[in-house]
Amino acid sequence: MMRPLGIYVHVPFCVKRCPYCGFFSSSCGRSGYKDRISEYFDLLEKELDLRARQAGAPYFVDSVYFGGGTPSLADPELFERLLDRIAGRFSIAPDAEISMEANPGTLTEERLKAYRRAGVNRLSIGLQSFDEDILRTLGRIHTAEDFTRSYDDAREAGFDNINADLMFGIPGQTLRSWEDNVTKLVSMLPEHVSFYSLQIEEGTKFYHDYKMGDMAPVTDEEDREMYHSAISILRNHGYSQYEISNAALPGRQCRHNLKYWTFRDYLGIGASSSSFMSGVRWTDPGGGYEGFVKAGAPQDMLSEYHKNSDFDNASDYMITGLRLNSGIGMKDFSRRFGKTVWEMFPEAQNEAEEFFGSGCFKEESGRLYITEKGLDISNRIMQLFV
Ligand code: SF4
Repeated sequence: MMRPLGIYVHVPFCVKRCPYCGFFSSSCGRSGYKDRISEYFDLLEKELDLRARQAGAPYFVDSVYFGGGTPSLADPELFERLLDRIAGRFSIAPDAEISMEANPGTLTEERLKAYRRAGVNRLSIGLQSFDEDILRTLGRIHTAEDFTRSYDDAREAGFDNINADLMFGIPGQTLRSWEDNVTKLVSMLPEHVSFYSLQIEEGTKFYHDYKMGDMAPVTDEEDREMYHSAISILRNHGYSQYEISNAALPGRQCRHNLKYWTFRDYLGIGASSSSFMSGVRWTDPGGGYEGFVKAGAPQDMLSEYHKNSDFDNASDYMITGLRLNSGIGMKDFSRRFGKTVWEMFPEAQNEAEEFFGSGCFKEESGRLYITEKGLDISNRIMQLFV
């Protein structure tokens, strides 16, 4: 029987590095990178061929996600060619979700139309903020006006499925300005909103500034207040939060990302991408474009190859599934693993009592889930299943 597959394509190029970013990407400026991106897409095709040959089961692709980096730096023809290649190696469902992450500073009306023609049907735009001073703090290359123009151009180009990313917990941001940002975004009616708390990651400029005492992050209390106010504004405007950092209008959840949280097969191609197919996880070499090329992309280049034990799989199932507001299905768990959740994690049952008692964790109608009250301590609850 044909099995559904999501394909993630990592495009590790950015105009310049944002000071908070911990992703693999190479800074390439606004020009002079075309050859490198084109060479990289050649390697992606070779990796795709290799993975298609290795895939044990017949798959059909029902989602493709171009993430980065800044995929919108790559020309639409490259997308078209790669999507054709994917269709040649696997079949692509007629209603497949084809997403692309885009930086508003790189989009034009003409390019948007060309991406749409190439087959991209969902756009995820990195807005982050409508406040110019916050955008400057984040080192973004775009202005709020760039976002608004790109958003209107995308609608004009025929995109009827748009996500916008917003960030909170940024030094200098106030609760009031954050709430204004969320309200302004939902008034534009994007189908999907992702809202992330700024994480100060080791190795980034923000981390350095923080360690040197040059940056004062918002307090945990302020961060949580911003988080919960976003959920409530989104809810009041018809969006339902379905994952820790994601909300959507009815029927507009991101199909591709749901695969990560519902334990479905996905294939990652490109530098530092991760895959999970038939119970096997692996990660491609990182180091951005250079690392990928150096590792000899077309060869077998797995830097980490891990065949999960049943326990690993059960643990991954719990940790990813509990990110969803709907949590995990107890019967589905038993069917997959031949044991109940509590048989697989007997110690967790006792420890979970504290969270059940405080109303942060619930087992109800055959599902186990973290409640809104428990979202702030979701990591502690997930740790029960490690
Ligand atoms: S544009 Fe995105 S991927 Fe690129 S450096 Fe900035 S945050 Fe990172």
